[in-house]
Amino acid sequence: MTYLYSETPEFFSELCEEIRLFIDIRRIEKLKTDEFEKDGFFVLHYFVRGEGSVESTARIANDGEIVAEYTYECAAQSGELARKRAEKRAAKISLYRALSGHFGKAMPWGSLTGIRPTKLLRDSQMRLGKAKAQALFLNEFDVSEEKLAFAQRIVDVQQRLLPSGENNIDVYIGIPFCTTRCAYCSFASSTPDVFADAEQLYMDALTDELNILDDLLEGKVVRAVYVGGGTPTAISDENLKKILSIAAKIGADEFTVEAGRPDTITQSKLKLIKQSGAKRISVNAQTLRDDTLSRIGRCHTAQDFFEAYNMARQAGFESINVDLIAGLPGESADDLVNTLEQIMRLEPQNITVHTLAIKRASKFAAQNMDALPSSEDTRDALKKAADMLEKAGYAPYYMYRQKYMKGSMENVGYAKHGKECLYNIDNMEDACSVAAFGAGGISKRVFGGVQAAGNETGQRIERAANVKDLREYIARTGEMRKRKRRLFEV
Ligand code: SF4
Repeated sequence: MTYLYSETPEFFSELCEEIRLFIDIRRIEKLKTDEFEKDGFFVLHYFVRGEGSVESTARIANDGEIVAEYTYECAAQSGELARKRAEKRAAKISLYRALSGHFGKAMPWGSLTGIRPTKLLRDSQMRLGKAKAQALFLNEFDVSEEKLAFAQRIVDVQQRLLPSGENNIDVYIGIPFCTTRCAYCSFASSTPDVFADAEQLYMDALTDELNILDDLLEGKVVRAVYVGGGTPTAISDENLKKILSIAAKIGADEFTVEAGRPDTITQSKLKLIKQSGAKRISVNAQTLRDDTLSRIGRCHTAQDFFEAYNMARQAGFESINVDLIAGLPGESADDLVNTLEQIMRLEPQNITVHTLAIKRASKFAAQNMDALPSSEDTRDALKKAADMLEKAGYAPYYMYRQKYMKGSMENVGYAKHGKECLYNIDNMEDACSVAAFGAGGISKRVFGGVQAAGNETGQRIERAANVKDLREYIARTGEMRKRKRRLFEV
């Protein structure tokens, strides 16, 4: 059992994240005192606040003995927000270094556990300048040189693609249905066997929620429209047509429809998407090994993927994205390389390489534990993939990390020059506001735009979340509309 004592309960979850970088464990017991016992792994954290400085100390005790300790000192900050930010950072750094010393290993992203390292790097560069921000990443956060260079590459690519000002907005429309559920799925997506009568009720509710679009978008510049899921192509042609006609009227330059599962892609669906004016589509392989596809519950074969991809290509989409996953059970780095080689021959404009993220306590993890590749193998696979993609003219243009991700890795979108998906960048970098429709959609209003992160005033973000549960969403659509009206003050 692993136990954590912290004098500062408000940082408990952040400290747990640091522990989970080193130990595959879900449950961490909260201790009321710092007394440790003979059995168990104890993490103890303290602050000593002095005149102009604060000391953060992390102590590790294993089976009754103190085995590691690290103290990190930072300048005391005035103002509640600055104090909290500095102390949280100090707490994470001291604990990361104590754990790293004890386990004798470093993590690629050091003590960083947040999902947006590129945003942190850009914001730091706007505040401190490039050299100081890079030093912060290397010397304070203990990020590896390789990861820093990678994050910098993405920040540089994004520079020409970020919006300016705060008048920009993206629109997300969520269709939370899939024909079957992938074994690793963490989305709130429903399958017909679970909720057979849902589709029509949901589409009626969604259309109703979308009635506020004109009011919401008045006077704003819409950068991108994204119809995602779930799998939008899993619904009926009639419903897909209806929702796409609403999305088309928004008139954004970038219009993406996810058609993720090849088993849902038909000529008629592609025709509807094309007629709506969508220029970008996602057709996802994940892997081209049939035994793995079956193991992860994808319900399609590599051949199905090729057929769906070719249909999409023939339909004439300007931009096709293909998603892959590294770290799948039973797969080595060579398997990912092999899949990637086949995908690259198709010359899609975007390739997104995800890393398998699973809850360790899930049924999927339990069933596949022996077959999951090691973190080192997954890192090796990602490195090889990155090298191959760069050589073939794809640049990394956005990335994010997730909880439960193997080996402290990341998901990375690669694109041919000029084919980057603005919605992905905006979403991950908090570059502009998003009006999100559908169950589980999270709208956000970005005050000050992306450049404000470097100003005195800083960037401020407010969010309004739609309920995730389908029945709740259908029953409470009016409330979801009101939440968005309040957020955008219309
Ligand atoms: S296609 Fe995506 S949303 Fe649907 S079940 Fe698979 S992982 Fe989940």
